[in-house]
Amino acid sequence: MAQTIKAPSVPLKQFKRTKIVATVGPSTDSYELVLSMIKAGANGIRLNFSHGTNEERTRQIKWIRKASAEAGKPVAIIQDLQGPKIRLGDFDGIVNVKKGKGLTFGYQTDYAVTGHLPTQYDLSKKVKRGERIHLYDGKVRTVVTSVSKGVVHVEAENDGILIKRKGMNLPDTNFEGDIITPKDRADLVYGSAQDIDYVALSFVQTADDIERLRTLLRSMNSTVKIIAKIETKAAVDNIEEIVQASDVVMIARGDLAVETASESVPIVQRQIVGLGLRHATPTIVATQMLASMSDSPEATRAEVSDVATAVIVGADCVMLSDETASGHYPINAIKTMKQIILYTESHMPLTVSFLGNDEVTSRQTSISKAVINLAEDVKARAIVVETKSGATAVQLAARRTSIPLIAVASEERVAQQLTIVYDVKSYVQPVSHHSAVKVTDWLQKNKLLKKGDVVVTASGRHPGVVGTTDTIKVRVLE
Ligand code: PGA
Ligand code: MN
Repeated sequence: MAQTIKAPSVPLKQFKRTKIVATVGPSTDSYELVLSMIKAGANGIRLNFSHGTNEERTRQIKWIRKASAEAGKPVAIIQDLQGPKIRLGDFDGIVNVKKGKGLTFGYQTDYAVTGHLPTQYDLSKKVKRGERIHLYDGKVRTVVTSVSKGVVHVEAENDGILIKRKGMNLPDTNFEGDIITPKDRADLVYGSAQDIDYVALSFVQTADDIERLRTLLRSMNSTVKIIAKIETKAAVDNIEEIVQASDVVMIARGDLAVETASESVPIVQRQIVGLGLRHATPTIVATQMLASMSDSPEATRAEVSDVATAVIVGADCVMLSDETASGHYPINAIKTMKQIILYTESHMPLTVSFLGNDEVTSRQTSISKAVINLAEDVKARAIVVETKSGATAVQLAARRTSIPLIAVASEERVAQQLTIVYDVKSYVQPVSHHSAVKVTDWLQKNKLLKKGDVVVTASGRHPGVVGTTDTIKVRVLE
Protein backbone atom coordinates (compact mmCIF):
# COMPACT_ATOMS: atom_id res chain seq x y z
CA MET A 1 0.00 0.00 0.00
CA ALA A 2 2.03 2.86 -1.35
CA GLN A 3 0.78 5.66 0.81
CA THR A 4 -0.16 3.80 3.95
CA ILE A 5 2.87 1.84 5.03
CA LYS A 6 4.48 4.73 6.85
CA ALA A 7 1.25 6.52 7.79
CA PRO A 8 1.53 8.08 11.25
CA SER A 9 -0.32 6.15 13.96
CA VAL A 10 -2.22 9.12 15.30
CA PRO A 11 -5.68 8.20 16.64
CA LEU A 12 -8.25 8.94 13.94
CA LYS A 13 -10.03 11.44 16.14
CA GLN A 14 -6.84 13.44 16.58
CA PHE A 15 -6.16 14.22 12.95
CA LYS A 16 -6.96 17.77 11.99
CA ARG A 17 -10.09 17.92 9.85
CA THR A 18 -9.55 21.36 8.38
CA LYS A 19 -6.55 21.20 6.05
CA ILE A 20 -3.58 23.47 5.40
CA VAL A 21 -2.19 24.66 2.06
CA ALA A 22 1.23 26.32 2.28
CA THR A 23 3.14 28.13 -0.45
CA VAL A 24 6.70 27.15 -1.27
CA GLY A 25 9.15 29.96 -2.04
CA PRO A 26 12.58 31.39 -1.29
CA SER A 27 12.12 30.78 2.46
CA THR A 28 11.33 27.09 1.97
CA ASP A 29 13.48 26.29 -1.05
CA SER A 30 15.19 23.07 0.03
CA TYR A 31 14.29 19.42 0.40
CA GLU A 32 14.65 19.58 4.19
CA LEU A 33 12.35 22.60 4.47
CA VAL A 34 9.73 21.06 2.20
CA LEU A 35 9.83 17.92 4.36
CA SER A 36 9.47 20.09 7.48
CA MET A 37 6.47 21.84 5.93
CA ILE A 38 4.75 18.52 5.33
CA LYS A 39 5.63 17.14 8.76
CA ALA A 40 4.44 20.36 10.42
CA GLY A 41 0.99 19.89 8.88
CA ALA A 42 0.85 21.09 5.26
CA ASN A 43 -1.58 18.95 3.24
CA GLY A 44 -1.26 20.89 0.01
CA ILE A 45 1.69 22.84 -1.39
CA ARG A 46 1.12 25.78 -3.69
CA LEU A 47 3.54 26.81 -6.40
CA ASN A 48 2.97 30.48 -7.19
CA PHE A 49 3.47 31.01 -10.93
CA SER A 50 3.59 34.79 -10.46
CA HIS A 51 7.17 34.34 -9.26
CA GLY A 52 10.09 32.00 -9.87
CA THR A 53 11.31 29.91 -12.77
CA ASN A 54 10.24 26.55 -14.16
CA GLU A 55 13.65 25.19 -13.25
CA GLU A 56 12.94 25.98 -9.58
CA ARG A 57 9.47 24.49 -9.80
CA THR A 58 10.61 21.24 -11.40
CA ARG A 59 13.02 20.85 -8.49
CA GLN A 60 10.34 21.73 -5.91
CA ILE A 61 7.85 19.21 -7.36
CA LYS A 62 10.47 16.44 -7.02
CA TRP A 63 11.18 17.48 -3.43
CA ILE A 64 7.49 17.51 -2.52
CA ARG A 65 6.86 14.01 -3.89
CA LYS A 66 9.96 12.63 -2.18
CA ALA A 67 9.09 14.33 1.13
CA SER A 68 5.49 13.14 0.89
CA ALA A 69 6.71 9.54 0.53
CA GLU A 70 9.14 10.00 3.42
CA ALA A 71 6.45 11.49 5.67
CA GLY A 72 4.00 8.74 4.61
CA LYS A 73 1.23 11.12 3.67
CA PRO A 74 -0.14 12.18 0.32
CA VAL A 75 0.19 15.86 -0.56
CA ALA A 76 -1.64 17.94 -3.17
CA ILE A 77 0.49 20.08 -5.48
CA ILE A 78 -1.23 23.23 -6.70
CA GLN A 79 -0.14 25.22 -9.75
CA ASP A 80 -1.36 28.77 -9.11
CA LEU A 81 -1.52 30.68 -12.41
CA GLN A 82 -0.89 34.42 -12.44
CA GLY A 83 -3.92 35.23 -14.60
CA PRO A 84 -4.54 38.80 -15.81
CA LYS A 85 -2.73 40.32 -12.84
CA ILE A 86 -1.95 43.65 -14.41
CA ARG A 87 1.10 45.57 -13.31
CA LEU A 88 2.78 48.83 -14.10
CA GLY A 89 5.93 48.41 -16.15
CA ASP A 90 9.38 49.78 -15.37
CA PHE A 91 10.10 53.46 -14.82
CA ASP A 92 12.55 55.37 -12.69
CA GLY A 93 11.79 56.93 -9.33
CA ILE A 94 8.53 57.73 -7.62
CA VAL A 95 5.54 59.34 -9.33
CA ASN A 96 3.48 61.63 -7.13
CA VAL A 97 -0.26 61.41 -7.63
CA LYS A 98 -2.59 64.29 -6.71
CA LYS A 99 -6.31 64.03 -6.13
CA GLY A 100 -8.29 65.44 -9.09
CA LYS A 101 -5.27 65.42 -11.40
CA GLY A 102 -4.93 63.32 -14.55
CA LEU A 103 -2.60 60.40 -15.28
CA THR A 104 -2.09 58.40 -18.45
CA PHE A 105 -1.20 54.77 -19.04
CA GLY A 106 0.39 53.36 -22.20
CA TYR A 107 1.16 49.76 -23.11
CA GLN A 108 4.89 49.06 -22.67
CA THR A 109 5.70 52.70 -23.24
CA ASP A 110 8.83 54.58 -22.12
CA TYR A 111 7.71 56.98 -19.39
CA ALA A 112 10.71 59.29 -19.84
CA VAL A 113 9.85 59.74 -23.52
CA THR A 114 6.02 59.66 -23.65
CA GLY A 115 4.97 60.75 -20.15
CA HIS A 116 2.55 57.79 -20.06
CA LEU A 117 3.01 55.32 -17.22
CA PRO A 118 3.90 51.97 -18.77
CA THR A 119 1.62 48.95 -18.23
CA GLN A 120 2.43 45.27 -18.88
CA TYR A 121 -0.98 44.74 -20.51
CA ASP A 122 -2.79 46.70 -23.20
CA LEU A 123 -5.52 48.18 -21.03
CA SER A 124 -6.90 50.33 -23.85
CA LYS A 125 -8.39 47.17 -25.40
CA LYS A 126 -10.48 46.40 -22.31
CA VAL A 127 -11.28 49.44 -20.16
CA LYS A 128 -14.06 51.95 -20.74
CA ARG A 129 -14.79 55.45 -19.55
CA GLY A 130 -16.12 55.58 -15.98
CA GLU A 131 -14.46 52.32 -14.88
CA ARG A 132 -12.20 52.29 -11.85
CA ILE A 133 -8.49 51.44 -11.89
CA HIS A 134 -6.93 50.79 -8.49
CA LEU A 135 -3.17 50.72 -8.13
CA TYR A 136 -0.63 49.59 -5.53
CA ASP A 137 -2.99 47.34 -3.50
CA GLY A 138 -5.72 49.95 -3.68
CA LYS A 139 -3.57 52.74 -2.25
CA VAL A 140 -4.18 54.87 -5.36
CA ARG A 141 -7.71 54.94 -6.76
CA THR A 142 -8.50 56.35 -10.19
CA VAL A 143 -11.37 56.54 -12.67
CA VAL A 144 -11.02 56.30 -16.46
CA THR A 145 -11.92 59.59 -18.15
CA SER A 146 -11.16 58.56 -21.74
CA VAL A 147 -9.41 56.00 -23.91
CA SER A 148 -7.75 57.18 -27.08
CA LYS A 149 -5.13 55.78 -29.47
CA GLY A 150 -3.94 53.07 -27.10
CA VAL A 151 -3.66 55.48 -24.17
CA VAL A 152 -5.86 55.32 -21.08
CA HIS A 153 -6.58 58.64 -19.32
CA VAL A 154 -7.62 58.55 -15.67
CA GLU A 155 -8.32 60.98 -12.88
CA ALA A 156 -6.93 60.30 -9.40
CA GLU A 157 -9.36 60.15 -6.50
CA ASN A 158 -6.75 60.52 -3.78
CA ASP A 159 -3.17 61.66 -3.17
CA GLY A 160 -0.50 58.98 -3.25
CA ILE A 161 2.64 57.67 -4.89
CA LEU A 162 3.36 55.11 -7.59
CA ILE A 163 6.45 52.95 -8.03
CA LYS A 164 7.38 50.67 -10.92
CA ARG A 165 5.75 47.22 -11.24
CA LYS A 166 3.00 47.83 -8.68
CA GLY A 167 -0.23 45.89 -9.30
CA MET A 168 -3.36 47.31 -10.94
CA ASN A 169 -6.91 46.14 -10.23
CA LEU A 170 -9.78 46.72 -12.63
CA PRO A 171 -12.91 45.94 -10.63
CA ASP A 172 -15.39 47.16 -13.28
CA THR A 173 -13.72 45.81 -16.40
CA ASN A 174 -15.26 42.91 -18.28
CA PHE A 175 -12.57 40.65 -19.73
CA GLU A 176 -15.22 38.80 -21.76
CA GLY A 177 -13.72 35.42 -21.11
CA ASP A 178 -10.21 36.51 -21.99
CA ILE A 179 -8.64 35.84 -18.60
CA ILE A 180 -6.20 33.04 -19.49
CA THR A 181 -3.15 35.02 -20.60
CA PRO A 182 -0.39 33.85 -22.99
CA LYS A 183 1.83 33.37 -19.93
CA ASP A 184 -0.86 31.19 -18.28
CA ARG A 185 -1.08 29.08 -21.45
CA ALA A 186 2.67 28.55 -21.47
CA ASP A 187 2.53 27.67 -17.76
CA LEU A 188 -0.29 25.18 -18.43
CA VAL A 189 1.80 23.50 -21.13
CA TYR A 190 4.67 23.25 -18.65
CA GLY A 191 2.33 21.97 -15.92
CA SER A 192 0.74 19.34 -18.14
CA ALA A 193 4.08 17.53 -18.25
CA GLN A 194 4.54 17.78 -14.47
CA ASP A 195 3.20 15.78 -11.53
CA ILE A 196 0.63 18.31 -10.26
CA ASP A 197 -2.87 17.81 -8.85
CA TYR A 198 -4.65 21.17 -9.14
CA VAL A 199 -4.54 24.30 -11.28
CA ALA A 200 -5.72 27.51 -9.59
CA LEU A 201 -7.15 30.10 -11.99
CA SER A 202 -6.73 33.73 -10.94
CA PHE A 203 -9.22 36.57 -11.53
CA VAL A 204 -12.06 34.27 -12.60
CA GLN A 205 -15.13 36.29 -13.63
CA THR A 206 -17.67 33.71 -14.77
CA ALA A 207 -18.36 29.95 -14.77
CA ASP A 208 -17.47 30.01 -18.48
CA ASP A 209 -13.89 30.86 -17.52
CA ILE A 210 -13.77 27.54 -15.65
CA GLU A 211 -15.29 25.64 -18.58
CA ARG A 212 -12.74 27.18 -20.94
CA LEU A 213 -9.90 26.06 -18.68
CA ARG A 214 -11.44 22.59 -18.43
CA THR A 215 -11.55 22.30 -22.23
CA LEU A 216 -7.96 23.47 -22.46
CA LEU A 217 -6.82 20.96 -19.82
CA ARG A 218 -8.70 18.16 -21.57
CA SER A 219 -6.91 18.99 -24.82
CA MET A 220 -3.63 18.52 -22.93
CA ASN A 221 -4.80 15.16 -21.50
CA SER A 222 -4.39 16.59 -18.03
CA THR A 223 -5.93 14.92 -14.95
CA VAL A 224 -5.69 17.99 -12.70
CA LYS A 225 -8.68 19.52 -10.95
CA ILE A 226 -9.57 23.22 -11.01
CA ILE A 227 -9.47 25.73 -8.17
CA ALA A 228 -11.33 28.98 -8.94
CA LYS A 229 -9.78 31.96 -7.17
CA ILE A 230 -12.55 34.33 -6.14
CA GLU A 231 -10.93 37.76 -6.25
CA THR A 232 -13.02 39.91 -8.59
CA LYS A 233 -16.32 41.71 -8.21
CA ALA A 234 -17.68 39.81 -11.23
CA ALA A 235 -16.88 36.48 -9.54
CA VAL A 236 -18.81 37.54 -6.45
CA ASP A 237 -21.77 38.48 -8.67
CA ASN A 238 -21.63 35.07 -10.40
CA ILE A 239 -20.58 33.09 -7.36
CA GLU A 240 -23.13 30.27 -7.30
CA GLU A 241 -22.47 29.21 -10.91
CA ILE A 242 -18.73 29.39 -10.31
CA VAL A 243 -18.98 27.24 -7.16
CA GLN A 244 -20.95 24.65 -9.15
CA ALA A 245 -18.55 24.69 -12.11
CA SER A 246 -15.34 24.42 -10.04
CA ASP A 247 -13.74 21.49 -8.23
CA VAL A 248 -12.57 23.77 -5.39
CA VAL A 249 -12.93 27.52 -4.76
CA MET A 250 -10.41 29.79 -3.06
CA ILE A 251 -11.43 32.98 -1.29
CA ALA A 252 -8.43 35.05 -2.44
CA ARG A 253 -8.86 37.87 0.02
CA GLY A 254 -5.86 39.93 -1.12
CA ASP A 255 -7.15 41.03 -4.50
CA LEU A 256 -10.78 40.52 -3.45
CA ALA A 257 -10.46 43.32 -0.88
CA VAL A 258 -9.08 45.69 -3.51
CA GLU A 259 -11.65 44.78 -6.17
CA THR A 260 -14.64 44.94 -3.83
CA ALA A 261 -14.32 46.58 -0.42
CA SER A 262 -12.32 45.16 2.46
CA GLU A 263 -15.30 45.33 4.84
CA SER A 264 -17.30 43.08 2.50
CA VAL A 265 -14.73 40.27 2.50
CA PRO A 266 -15.76 38.54 5.78
CA ILE A 267 -19.38 38.33 4.62
CA VAL A 268 -18.40 37.14 1.16
CA GLN A 269 -16.14 34.55 2.83
CA ARG A 270 -19.07 33.15 4.83
CA GLN A 271 -21.34 33.11 1.80
CA ILE A 272 -18.80 31.25 -0.31
CA VAL A 273 -18.06 28.67 2.40
CA GLY A 274 -21.82 28.14 2.76
CA LEU A 275 -22.26 27.69 -0.99
CA GLY A 276 -19.33 25.27 -0.99
CA LEU A 277 -21.13 23.16 1.62
CA ARG A 278 -24.38 23.30 -0.33
CA HIS A 279 -22.82 22.19 -3.61
CA ALA A 280 -20.11 19.93 -2.13
CA THR A 281 -17.35 22.15 -3.51
CA PRO A 282 -14.40 22.36 -1.09
CA THR A 283 -13.31 25.88 -0.06
CA ILE A 284 -9.93 27.43 0.78
CA VAL A 285 -9.63 30.64 2.82
CA ALA A 286 -6.47 32.46 1.68
CA THR A 287 -4.22 35.45 2.23
CA GLN A 288 -2.87 37.22 5.31
CA MET A 289 -4.14 34.54 7.71
CA LEU A 290 -0.94 34.76 9.75
CA ALA A 291 0.65 37.70 7.90
CA SER A 292 2.56 39.09 10.89
CA MET A 293 4.39 35.76 11.17
CA SER A 294 6.43 36.76 8.13
CA ASP A 295 8.44 38.85 10.58
CA SER A 296 7.44 37.61 14.01
CA PRO A 297 7.53 34.18 15.66
CA GLU A 298 4.11 34.84 17.18
CA ALA A 299 0.76 35.45 15.49
CA THR A 300 -1.40 38.41 16.50
CA ARG A 301 -4.61 37.79 18.46
CA ALA A 302 -6.60 38.93 15.42
CA GLU A 303 -4.85 36.42 13.16
CA VAL A 304 -5.46 33.54 15.58
CA SER A 305 -9.10 34.54 15.58
CA ASP A 306 -9.17 34.70 11.77
CA VAL A 307 -7.91 31.11 11.40
CA ALA A 308 -10.32 29.87 14.09
CA THR A 309 -13.21 31.66 12.38
CA ALA A 310 -12.47 29.95 9.06
CA VAL A 311 -12.58 26.60 10.89
CA ILE A 312 -15.82 27.49 12.68
CA VAL A 313 -17.65 28.58 9.54
CA GLY A 314 -16.69 25.31 7.85
CA ALA A 315 -13.91 25.98 5.35
CA ASP A 316 -12.13 22.86 4.08
CA CYS A 317 -8.74 24.52 4.04
CA VAL A 318 -6.78 27.50 5.27
CA MET A 319 -3.82 28.81 3.31
CA LEU A 320 -0.43 30.41 3.94
CA SER A 321 1.23 32.53 1.24
CA ASP A 322 4.07 34.93 2.02
CA GLU A 323 4.27 33.47 5.53
CA THR A 324 5.85 30.27 4.17
CA ALA A 325 7.12 31.54 0.78
CA SER A 326 9.18 34.51 1.92
CA GLY A 327 8.65 34.87 5.68
CA HIS A 328 11.18 34.34 8.44
CA TYR A 329 9.19 31.68 10.33
CA PRO A 330 7.70 29.39 7.68
CA ILE A 331 7.56 26.16 9.71
CA ASN A 332 6.38 27.98 12.82
CA ALA A 333 3.53 29.48 10.83
CA ILE A 334 2.32 26.02 9.77
CA LYS A 335 2.63 24.69 13.33
CA THR A 336 0.71 27.68 14.68
CA MET A 337 -2.04 27.16 12.13
CA LYS A 338 -2.30 23.47 12.99
CA GLN A 339 -2.53 24.22 16.71
CA ILE A 340 -5.35 26.71 16.16
CA ILE A 341 -7.20 24.20 13.98
CA LEU A 342 -6.85 21.34 16.47
CA TYR A 343 -7.88 23.44 19.45
CA THR A 344 -10.85 24.95 17.65
CA GLU A 345 -12.05 21.61 16.33
CA SER A 346 -11.83 19.92 19.70
CA HIS A 347 -13.67 22.71 21.53
CA MET A 348 -16.33 23.51 19.02
CA PRO A 349 -19.59 21.63 18.86
CA LEU A 350 -20.01 20.60 15.26
CA THR A 351 -22.83 22.90 14.28
CA VAL A 352 -21.89 23.34 10.66
CA SER A 353 -24.62 21.54 8.81
CA PHE A 354 -24.89 20.54 5.19
CA LEU A 355 -27.18 23.12 3.67
CA GLY A 356 -28.26 20.64 1.01
CA ASN A 357 -29.64 21.71 -2.28
CA ASP A 358 -32.93 19.90 -2.03
CA GLU A 359 -33.98 20.56 -5.61
CA VAL A 360 -30.95 18.75 -7.00
CA THR A 361 -30.87 15.37 -5.35
CA SER A 362 -28.94 12.81 -7.28
CA ARG A 363 -28.28 9.16 -6.56
CA GLN A 364 -24.90 10.28 -5.29
CA THR A 365 -26.29 12.79 -2.78
CA SER A 366 -28.87 10.24 -1.60
CA ILE A 367 -26.22 7.59 -1.05
CA SER A 368 -23.95 9.96 0.85
CA LYS A 369 -26.87 11.03 3.06
CA ALA A 370 -27.67 7.36 3.78
CA VAL A 371 -24.02 6.53 4.58
CA ILE A 372 -23.78 9.38 7.08
CA ASN A 373 -27.14 8.61 8.73
CA LEU A 374 -26.24 4.96 9.10
CA ALA A 375 -22.72 5.68 10.39
CA GLU A 376 -24.03 8.15 12.96
CA ASP A 377 -26.79 5.77 14.10
CA VAL A 378 -24.44 2.82 14.63
CA LYS A 379 -21.82 5.14 16.18
CA ALA A 380 -19.22 4.12 13.63
CA ARG A 381 -15.52 4.80 14.37
CA ALA A 382 -14.87 5.52 10.72
CA ILE A 383 -16.44 5.66 7.30
CA VAL A 384 -14.32 3.95 4.65
CA VAL A 385 -15.28 4.86 1.11
CA GLU A 386 -13.95 3.52 -2.18
CA THR A 387 -13.81 6.36 -4.67
CA LYS A 388 -12.70 6.42 -8.28
CA SER A 389 -12.82 10.13 -9.12
CA GLY A 390 -12.94 11.36 -5.51
CA ALA A 391 -16.50 12.65 -5.91
CA THR A 392 -18.10 10.27 -3.40
CA ALA A 393 -15.55 11.27 -0.73
CA VAL A 394 -16.12 14.98 -1.46
CA GLN A 395 -19.90 14.48 -1.16
CA LEU A 396 -19.53 12.75 2.20
CA ALA A 397 -17.08 15.39 3.48
CA ALA A 398 -19.50 18.20 2.59
CA ARG A 399 -21.93 16.83 5.17
CA ARG A 400 -19.42 17.57 7.92
CA THR A 401 -20.06 14.53 10.04
CA SER A 402 -17.85 14.13 13.10
CA ILE A 403 -16.97 10.58 12.05
CA PRO A 404 -13.49 10.24 10.51
CA LEU A 405 -13.61 9.79 6.76
CA ILE A 406 -11.20 7.40 5.02
CA ALA A 407 -11.05 7.47 1.23
CA VAL A 408 -9.61 4.59 -0.77
CA ALA A 409 -8.58 5.66 -4.25
CA SER A 410 -7.04 3.56 -6.99
CA GLU A 411 -4.95 6.41 -8.35
CA GLU A 412 -2.32 8.49 -6.56
CA ARG A 413 -3.61 11.60 -8.34
CA VAL A 414 -7.06 11.25 -6.74
CA ALA A 415 -5.63 10.41 -3.30
CA GLN A 416 -3.48 13.54 -3.55
CA GLN A 417 -6.38 15.71 -4.68
CA LEU A 418 -8.44 14.56 -1.69
CA THR A 419 -5.84 15.70 0.86
CA ILE A 420 -7.15 19.28 0.81
CA VAL A 421 -10.75 18.19 1.40
CA TYR A 422 -12.20 18.49 4.92
CA ASP A 423 -11.66 15.43 7.12
CA VAL A 424 -10.61 13.08 4.31
CA LYS A 425 -7.62 10.82 4.90
CA SER A 426 -6.79 9.17 1.62
CA TYR A 427 -5.10 5.87 0.82
CA VAL A 428 -4.14 4.23 -2.45
CA GLN A 429 -5.12 0.66 -3.31
CA PRO A 430 -5.25 -1.12 -6.67
CA VAL A 431 -8.77 -1.53 -8.07
CA SER A 432 -10.39 -4.60 -6.49
CA HIS A 433 -13.53 -5.77 -4.76
CA HIS A 434 -11.80 -5.63 -1.41
CA SER A 435 -9.87 -2.37 -1.30
CA ALA A 436 -11.99 -0.84 1.52
CA VAL A 437 -11.67 -4.08 3.51
CA LYS A 438 -7.89 -4.08 3.01
CA VAL A 439 -7.53 -0.50 4.22
CA THR A 440 -9.77 -1.21 7.22
CA ASP A 441 -7.62 -4.25 8.09
CA TRP A 442 -4.50 -2.13 7.74
CA LEU A 443 -5.95 0.52 10.07
CA GLN A 444 -6.71 -2.16 12.64
CA LYS A 445 -3.27 -3.74 12.31
CA ASN A 446 -1.75 -0.31 12.93
CA LYS A 447 -4.00 0.23 15.95
CA LEU A 448 -5.96 3.12 14.44
CA LEU A 449 -9.02 0.88 14.80
CA LYS A 450 -9.56 -1.91 17.31
CA LYS A 451 -11.64 -5.03 17.97
CA GLY A 452 -15.29 -4.11 18.50
CA ASP A 453 -15.11 -0.89 16.47
CA VAL A 454 -17.88 -0.41 13.96
CA VAL A 455 -16.94 0.73 10.46
CA VAL A 456 -19.33 1.70 7.68
CA THR A 457 -18.02 1.14 4.17
CA ALA A 458 -19.34 2.45 0.87
CA SER A 459 -18.26 0.74 -2.32
CA GLY A 460 -19.51 -0.26 -5.74
CA ARG A 461 -20.25 -3.48 -7.60
CA HIS A 462 -17.97 -2.20 -10.35
CA PRO A 463 -14.79 -1.03 -8.64
CA GLY A 464 -12.87 1.52 -10.66
CA VAL A 465 -15.90 2.87 -12.51
CA VAL A 466 -16.99 6.43 -11.74
CA GLY A 467 -20.46 6.89 -10.23
CA THR A 468 -21.18 3.26 -9.34
CA THR A 469 -21.23 3.43 -5.53
CA ASP A 470 -24.20 1.23 -4.61
CA THR A 471 -23.22 -0.85 -1.58
CA ILE A 472 -23.21 0.23 2.05
CA LYS A 473 -21.96 -2.22 4.67
CA VAL A 474 -21.64 -2.23 8.45
CA ARG A 475 -18.67 -4.17 9.76
CA VAL A 476 -17.88 -4.91 13.40
CA LEU A 477 -14.15 -5.53 13.73
CA GLU A 478 -13.10 -8.85 15.20
P1 PGA B 1 -2.38 35.88 -5.14
O1 PGA B 1 -3.84 35.39 -4.81
O2 PGA B 1 -1.55 35.68 -3.92
O3 PGA B 1 -1.97 35.02 -6.27
O4 PGA B 1 -2.57 37.31 -5.52
C1 PGA B 1 -4.39 35.44 -3.54
C2 PGA B 1 -5.12 36.72 -3.23
O5 PGA B 1 -5.26 37.59 -4.10
O6 PGA B 1 -5.59 36.81 -2.10
MN1 MN C 1 -4.69 37.42 -6.14
